[in-house]
Amino acid sequence: MDRLKLAIQKSGRLSDKSKKLVSECGIKVKEGKNKLIAPSTNFPLDLFYLRDDDIPKYVEDGTADIGILGENVLLEKQSEVNTVIQLGFSKCRLSLAIPKAETYTDSSYFQGKKVATSYPVILSKYLNDKGVQADIHEISGSVEIAPGIGLAEGVCDIVSSGSTLFSNGLKEVEIVMQSQAVLIANKKMSAEKQAILDKLLFRIEAVRRAENSKYILLNAPENKVDDIIKALPGMRSPTVLPLAQKGWVSIHSVLIESEFWEKIDQLRTAGAEGILVVPIEKMIY
Ligand code: ATP
Ligand code: ZN
Repeated sequence: MDRLKLAIQKSGRLSDKSKKLVSECGIKVKEGKNKLIAPSTNFPLDLFYLRDDDIPKYVEDGTADIGILGENVLLEKQSEVNTVIQLGFSKCRLSLAIPKAETYTDSSYFQGKKVATSYPVILSKYLNDKGVQADIHEISGSVEIAPGIGLAEGVCDIVSSGSTLFSNGLKEVEIVMQSQAVLIANKKMSAEKQAILDKLLFRIEAVRRAENSKYILLNAPENKVDDIIKALPGMRSPTVLPLAQKGWVSIHSVLIESEFWEKIDQLRTAGAEGILVVPIEKMIY
């Protein structure tokens, strides 16, 4: 029986969330100290712990079958792999930044300037498309200190809140790309491995849907039920149960996180009371 080899980051910003996803999919792995490979005990999958930069290559050449990494690293490495699904975590952006005191108009600012980055491939394509020739210096870490020590006049680096840039006297002037964690796969997987991947994907999708949804229970007078149901999308139609108090019902349904507050307001206007909202662990259609 074949086993699927899943590469995740050994330690870093993606590791905990990658492991959490595996665990939420009901896949148990034996954690060993400093191990490179950890087999699952209840699913045909082995975890490979690697540096995120190495994951595209390993998946391309089939050393690993699938992997979890940021879209930023995936694009930088230009490997021939399939992107299977966006995972919604480790969201960040790759941005250009310059010293706070400088005046910025547009990307022509970078013409002939020294820019430090760990993403030379993405950055040179971005600037080339804008007709700008910059002097790109590849450095592997602590990019944000480069202008302060006179190594560069600007940087292109990962940003989430912008506080690291700010504390290094820089300001973000242009977003080069948005990124989040994705699941990638080898292009020539055996049918047997593909079947394991499909099973894994089914679970990942159930976990992702649940994360984006909330279970809602509310009370309402019977004569308001139609208005309330109109405001509720849900999986099918909502459950309506009679309450002990005559003329009142309890309505149960599912709400999408992004529409949450808007829907709550609509439901209250429509006459809903005693609204309870609870997290959903898994959601299977
Ligand atoms: P490795 O040692 O494995 O090479 P690394 O130092 O290159 O790790 P990390 O800093 O752990 O990488 O970041 C891994 C990925 O997490 C990045 O490529 C990016 O996709 C994402 N990421 C980085 N910084 C943030 C952030 N501040 N917020 C959210 N996601 C981030
Ligand atoms: Zn890395």
